[in-house]
Amino acid sequence: MRGAESTIWPNTLLSYLFILFIVIMVSVSTAPEPSPETSLTKHEQVAKEHAPEKTMTASMISIEKQVENAIKKAGQLIVLAGPSGVGKGTLLQQLRLKHPKLKLSISATTRQPRAGEVDGQHYYFKTREQFQAMVNAGELLEWAEFAGNYYGTPKAPIEAAIAQGQRVILEIELMGARQVRQSFPAANQIFIAPPDVSTLETRIRARGQETEAAIAKRLAQSKVELAAAHEFDTVIVNDCLETALQELEAAIFH
Ligand code: 5GP
Repeated sequence: MRGAESTIWPNTLLSYLFILFIVIMVSVSTAPEPSPETSLTKHEQVAKEHAPEKTMTASMISIEKQVENAIKKAGQLIVLAGPSGVGKGTLLQQLRLKHPKLKLSISATTRQPRAGEVDGQHYYFKTREQFQAMVNAGELLEWAEFAGNYYGTPKAPIEAAIAQGQRVILEIELMGARQVRQSFPAANQIFIAPPDVSTLETRIRARGQETEAAIAKRLAQSKVELAAAHEFDTVIVNDCLETALQELEAAIFH
């Protein structure tokens, strides 16, 4: 009997083990796949919760960057700055004769028109109240006070021109150029410098339309502007008009 028992027990034990093995195998094969969520540690889950937000921000930044790069690559927005009397206006006139497709922004100003200046062509001449209303309505891309008058760039025509793929030039003073650098860091910023300061005074006086006080204000502001030349992407010395024009073309169409 003992001999019979000793052969039955191992067989029974083997059967139990075999059944147990089958049960385990079946339960393993039918167990649901652990979801990615449950396989994450608590720390990873918290990180994942914040991930969509991060991804959104990252993609938004990359879209902004793409637009920025497009502006930079196409050089669509060009800022031309430099002290009063440096010859920005003459350079731009010449430039537009050679490149009529370039769009020159027409600024609003509270300054009185000079002889020969036409409203809507050289500037939009505004009263202080009208200019203030434009500022309040958010219609200006940038604006600044210069030598006692206000000057500003109307926003809508610039945005429309850029959307159409046009190159737009803003001929503005230093404070405005700095504002554009904030809102359009990819704008191509060009500074026109005089060969020397006395040339500026001669040119400003040659206009013959400014009071002595206004000339003094412009000359004082010139020094501030010249000290900021290094902030710009390109500095062109307007000594010889032809050379300066070639350098300007190179800076714009490089
Ligand atoms: P002006 O009275 O000699 O025509 O211009 C005086 C200064 O104002 C120049 O340096 C000119 O570039 C600048 N200016 C002209 N339009 C604008 C403008 O829309 N915004 C700013 N910030 N400056 C301007």
